[in-house]
Amino acid sequence: MDFETYFKNELDGLHQEGRYRVFADLERQKGNFPKATRHTANGPQDVTVWCSNDYLGMGQHPKVTEAMKLAIDHCGAGAGGTRNISGTNHYHVLLERELADLHGKESALLFTSGYVSNWAALGTLCSKIPGIICFSDAGNHASMIEGIRHSKCERVIWKHNDLKDLEAKLAAADPKAPKLIAFESVYSMDGDIAPIKEICDLADKYGAMTYLDEVHAVGMYGPRGGGIAERDGLMHRLTLIEGTLGKAFGVMGGYIAGSAALCDFVRSFASGFIFTTSLPPTIAAGAAAAIRHLKESQVERFAHQERVRKLRSLLDRNGIPHMPNPSHIVPVMVGDAAKCKWISDLLLDNFGIYVQPINYPTVPKKTERLRITPTPLHTDADIEHLVSALHSLWSRCALARAVA
Ligand SMILES: *Cc1c(COP(=O)(O)O)cnc(C)c1O
Repeated sequence: MDFETYFKNELDGLHQEGRYRVFADLERQKGNFPKATRHTANGPQDVTVWCSNDYLGMGQHPKVTEAMKLAIDHCGAGAGGTRNISGTNHYHVLLERELADLHGKESALLFTSGYVSNWAALGTLCSKIPGIICFSDAGNHASMIEGIRHSKCERVIWKHNDLKDLEAKLAAADPKAPKLIAFESVYSMDGDIAPIKEICDLADKYGAMTYLDEVHAVGMYGPRGGGIAERDGLMHRLTLIEGTLGKAFGVMGGYIAGSAALCDFVRSFASGFIFTTSLPPTIAAGAAAAIRHLKESQVERFAHQERVRKLRSLLDRNGIPHMPNPSHIVPVMVGDAAKCKWISDLLLDNFGIYVQPINYPTVPKKTERLRITPTPLHTDADIEHLVSALHSLWSRCALARAVA
């Protein structure tokens, strides 16, 4: 086989479908969040980042960066091993305690990313529990889907956030089979929120365990940043809560929190936990500092929500269509892959505004969008500049306006 030709043909296919991903080459500017220097063929350009998942700017918070500097001076660069073989650093232990406390659970377990935590935890639970049936929301993240698939368990996909469909499918399944319901709190592309309480009620009725991905909610919701389940007083009803340290906590890594036996079970059987070098101590120290700060401080959460409201009201005033939702994610709808990419390119090149276009297969065709994530550190001037740029591009691109 001519491998090179094969690779190039496959890539040509992505180009033709408008799905080829181009990365912006950015240098984030510490102390100047959300600004970054973008490196281009024509030299450097200052840009405002409008699509970061560092939702609260914690990646540059002095408490976080100082904790990381202290840890590197203390322990050096890497962890030096897997968790089992010399790689459990004291910072990991402290961080796991911090996470268990955050979610009101007995235990927590760290992974190298949120992706790995979903893949490894679901992969292990669904392959090791005999006869288990996994009920997975149709909108679940790729990491959950891959974990469930890898487990080879029986899986049932229920309609996104649809309680009737979930109940019908639970009722149709073998009453004696162990069951797991896997879902998210805030869904990252539409920004909608799952009916967690009602799902837990169904789980109780049908004897299922619940697996909740709170990746887009931890740090941002709940009085201590425990997520939507904390905000709604439901953390105790979930068997397992999964989260990331890479989004609102500003660093990197993933985790699960649950009972001591559950976490010990995953710790003892999950290949993706066992056979990989643990996170560097610096990362664990930085994440713990971010979590500790956000447990006590509401300032970032309140400012975040206020900025989201401000952006939405300015978009409304200019007739820029955006998907209404109860979260911090503002999907500005374009509905055409080529136009979405074109608007994103013009925003970047002509206005210094960076919003990555979101096209198929991340979202369904005809729902192509700009997924905008305001942070507490976007100023009024940043918001006005973004909306006026969108306003002029909407006219140039002959895109439909929302009707007020
Ligand atoms: C980003 C994301 C993950 C993966 O988290 P990482 O820490 O980035 O690997 C898991 N679940 C959802 C819903 C996500 O959006």
